Amino acid sequence: MTDGIFIAGACQGAKDIPSSVAQGAAAAVVWSLISQGEIEIEPIRAQIDEERCSGCRICNNLCPYSAIEYIEEKGVSRVNPALCKGCGTCVGACPSQVIEGQHFTFDSLMAQIEGVLWDRRPDGGTTVYAHTESVASD
Ligand code: SF4
Ligand code: SF4
Repeated sequence: MTDGIFIAGACQGAKDIPSSVAQGAAAAVVWSLISQGEIEIEPIRAQIDEERCSGCRICNNLCPYSAIEYIEEKGVSRVNPALCKGCGTCVGACPSQVIEGQHFTFDSLMAQIEGVLWDRRPDGGTTVYAHTESVASD
């Protein structure tokens, strides 16, 4: 569910009974969230380096929250941080590797994978390297 302003029921327009019941149930779910007073959210948001974006638009339709828009005038894509949930789908999909999670870079992700796989390195014969440019290999 994307954050934002929710409209349900008669304020949206005339409704039949099934629609009214369905929207009432949805409103109850939303109310259970906002009635807590405070909601903790993940601080990670994706951001695109527009200087290096090729404008290929591969990322545009991959976001499950429709948080990426294409800026026609500039020929680049841009993440709307209000909609982004930091899921990372676009980060992994960008062929130019110009999308990074704020506070969570591509290199830091690869370094973590490297760490997890540390005991599976060379002599075990099962080395797995996804990215080695900025990660020490010895
Ligand atoms: S996939 Fe990468 S290069 Fe292509 S439009 Fe999106 S951010 Fe730009
Ligand atoms: S990180 Fe996930 S939610 Fe955020 S823009 Fe990329 S695909 Fe969308």
